[in-house]
Amino acid sequence: AKHDGRGRFAFFEQAMDASMQLRLRMERDLRAAVDQGQFLLHYQPIVSVATGALAGFEALVRWRHPERGMVPPGDFIGLAEEIGLIAPLGRWVLERACADAALWPRPVKVAVNVSPRQLADSTFPDLVAATLKSTGLAPSRLELEITESALMHNVEAAKNALLRLKLTGCSIAMDDFGTGYSSLGYLRTFPFDKVKIDRSFVKHLAGTKESSAIIRAVTGMCDSLGIISTAEGVENQEQLAYLREERCIEAQGYLFGRPVPMDELPAVFARFAGG
Ligand code: C2E
Ligand code: CA
Ligand code: CA
Ligand code: CA
Repeated sequence: AKHDGRGRFAFFEQAMDASMQLRLRMERDLRAAVDQGQFLLHYQPIVSVATGALAGFEALVRWRHPERGMVPPGDFIGLAEEIGLIAPLGRWVLERACADAALWPRPVKVAVNVSPRQLADSTFPDLVAATLKSTGLAPSRLELEITESALMHNVEAAKNALLRLKLTGCSIAMDDFGTGYSSLGYLRTFPFDKVKIDRSFVKHLAGTKESSAIIRAVTGMCDSLGIISTAEGVENQEQLAYLREERCIEAQGYLFGRPVPMDELPAVFARFAGG
């Protein structure tokens, strides 16, 4: 029994060692990736529910790992935040997205995700202003997507940051609406232009009465507050029909297009031609 116990302990120790090593390797690779610029952006269309016209694109970062191939953001954004790499990575994303959007054939919006740590940096609004200037992108074409978690730690500081950001002329969206603790309260406190309804609500739209009731409540409230409602994760016509009925303003999801690299955008623009 004694022997078994030690054997098992050694096994756990080894397993822990392996995951520790994996994390350390991941950290080292991520630092190199930032230095060497191994990232790229994919763009996913956002459309008007009423007309089907193209409203803009959300920029979504990917990491082209030399051995592991394309790594999705869910696998490295958290680590980048933890080890202090989100500032340089976020700066690159912002610059790339604004520079790309400035070249698009139609003046649609580009939406950029902003992590809590970026927003907490008091120089971030200056970075946004400088980037708009250096890329020549019209400020009204930039939208920053912010999650509730970025707002809750220091409400006053976050409010100040959002007000300074709005002075640059960009717009601000609340991302993943409905997944946090006080989404509704934050709408009153912060100057949001848009609410992105989390895809967990859209997913069950056709299945449960509750989901459509929630969507109806959110779109109705946005309407009376003058905030644009956008539904995320729209995958089928049935969901789109519900959203139309509930007067949701915009939609995003695989039904309209997957995120694609910049060189595939001409085809996407063509698909939405005239819109
Ligand atoms: P998000 O901001 O909620 O972005 C939407 C995610 O949903 C994207 O995943 C997108 O590919 C996926 N998606 C879009 N349409 C559909 C659909 O119809 N069905 C389903 N099942 N999924 C859909 P992605 O690209 O893996 O990004 C994951 C998250 O990583 C994003 O969630 C965002 O929070 C974060 N992220 C992405 N790019 C950046 C970035 O540049 N900076 C920061 N800080 N975070 C980023
Ligand atoms: Ca987003
Ligand atoms: Ca989202
Ligand atoms: Ca999300």
